[in-house]
Amino acid sequence: MSTVKDFETSQFPTWCPGCGDFGIWTALKNAFVEQGLSPYQTCVVFGIGCSGNMASFLTVYGFHGLQGRTIPVATGIKLANHTLPVVAIGGDGDGYGIGLGHLIYAMRRNVDITYVVHNNQIYGLTKGQTSPTSEKGATTKSTPFGAIEIPIDPIALAIDVGATYVARGFSGNVKQLTELIVGGMKHKGFALIDAMQPCVTFNHLNTFHWFYERIYELGKEEHDPRDKAKAWAKAMEWPTQLTVDENRIDRIPTGLFYQEERPCYGDELPQLAGASLVEQSIEQIDIQPLMEKLA
Ligand code: SF4
Repeated sequence: MSTVKDFETSQFPTWCPGCGDFGIWTALKNAFVEQGLSPYQTCVVFGIGCSGNMASFLTVYGFHGLQGRTIPVATGIKLANHTLPVVAIGGDGDGYGIGLGHLIYAMRRNVDITYVVHNNQIYGLTKGQTSPTSEKGATTKSTPFGAIEIPIDPIALAIDVGATYVARGFSGNVKQLTELIVGGMKHKGFALIDAMQPCVTFNHLNTFHWFYERIYELGKEEHDPRDKAKAWAKAMEWPTQLTVDENRIDRIPTGLFYQEERPCYGDELPQLAGASLVEQSIEQIDIQPLMEKLA
């Protein structure tokens, strides 16, 4: 039986003291242990950013890819070995910026992977520029007069384009985040877990304190995640599109917004019906029917 220690490397994280990444790192390790997984039964694909630096702090089969390209790599790994649990890790700049096209298509396809996004609403690794989830009006090094664009709402987007497990976690609530990651990994289909992660160095607005004052758990109220209309209404509860205002009072729902069962991309590929690609010999793969179709 593996322990949390088995998933750690000899290197202690280099994140800034108090960074929200620590809570997500802890929840991820807890989630692997709770499922009885060992490091060699687990695959994690990392993007570029402070979140991606976790590649050096986690003992798993890991792939540290290019920025915005976590989803294609994770999809390829899952299709080659669909019995392997595959988790992708990225940040808001990575997944909702340059990688957004890949994310939308993976959600439409319902690829059976779990994507945990460290959403700190800023580019941390490059020292504090506006990101796709920065609030309108946020003043950063790249927008000294305030961000002009309205932010992307990952929860509403995911529900709309076809993700089948849509959740928001908070790095300050490790217990709930662990449960959400376990739920996402057990779910068959694309799981998006948008994890709010205060960047204590560059995002001086949305801090741990700010979140603690506003968040609540959907699981403690009456919410049916199978009801798409209700999930949508809950997604609309945090009006991130409003102009930034430190004094405004938001109620921020966390937990599982939406879940449905729908066939996964891999389920619809006849080549994977018998066995995982890695378990098939080259002789077993018959491309003749395909060649006849193309003729
Ligand atoms: Fe965390 Fe921000 Fe420091 Fe990056 S810059 S490690 S996100 S606190």
